[in-house]
Amino acid sequence: MNIELVEVGPRDGLQSERVILPTAAKIALIEQLIAAGLRRIEVTSFVNPKRVPQMADAEAVLAGLPRRTGVSYIGLVLNHKGLERARDAGCDAIGMAIVASETFNRRNQGVGTEESIAAWQQIAPAARAAGIAPNVTISAAFGCPYEGDVDPRRVLEIALRCAESNPVEICLADTIGVAVPTQVEDLFASLHERLPTMPLRAHFHNTRNTALANVYAAIRSGARAIDASVGGIGGCPFAPAATGNVPTEDVLYMLNRMGIETGVSIERLLATAQWVEQQLGKPVPGMLIKAGNFPPPRTAAQESA
Ligand code: MG
Repeated sequence: MNIELVEVGPRDGLQSERVILPTAAKIALIEQLIAAGLRRIEVTSFVNPKRVPQMADAEAVLAGLPRRTGVSYIGLVLNHKGLERARDAGCDAIGMAIVASETFNRRNQGVGTEESIAAWQQIAPAARAAGIAPNVTISAAFGCPYEGDVDPRRVLEIALRCAESNPVEICLADTIGVAVPTQVEDLFASLHERLPTMPLRAHFHNTRNTALANVYAAIRSGARAIDASVGGIGGCPFAPAATGNVPTEDVLYMLNRMGIETGVSIERLLATAQWVEQQLGKPVPGMLIKAGNFPPPRTAAQESA
């Protein structure tokens, strides 16, 4: 089996970090991620820079990135203006986020969920016409900081309506890190049953230490791509002390040991996570970076023995 790792560190990871990385450092990070074998990278978001200062250099990041065959640069957008910026900047793909809960959608995007769905119905064909792959993410699919539990029927309804506009993939996101594996299994299995040919992606935060278990549950229930951030950087705006996205190298360790192919080098990814620690000036939340890979890399003496 193959699973595609989608690296979201440069966007979801960095956006909630207090240290604003210079554009050149962001580009250097993305280049290291490509060298580690990652092929889909969420590189920035095209949102209001006043609200997300870390992403104010979206255009400059894209302008500085190397063009590599087979590497897809994804930009997060919330509306049509975002799509236009992403197109002009040269994104290969866009990820549109629609929040499953009304209150959260209004707070995050300034419009209701229905308006975001209507925007997506315009954005998806416009992106395709511009040669950009349209992805859609249903955010807060497993719980909302304002409304609490989110009705899975509502999530499915939004996903099915979004599917009518032909996304290349649908993602279900546990934006605030509250999901547990049984919930993940139920929701992914229901969606997969209704849309058997639609590629599904999963996005988890490790806010309550359930992210890796949720990754496993999502894969068992039909997800074939997993969002993760190098070092597990990021956070949760609703839980200030919380850890971030599920760490890419921790997911990779699990998949490697399960015999699942990703094409990503764990040693290079660990080196990148260490580099990120230096850039941010603090330890990252990932576990593999502390424990090391297993089995450990063979030493030169062992190789020659
Ligand atoms: Mg997220």
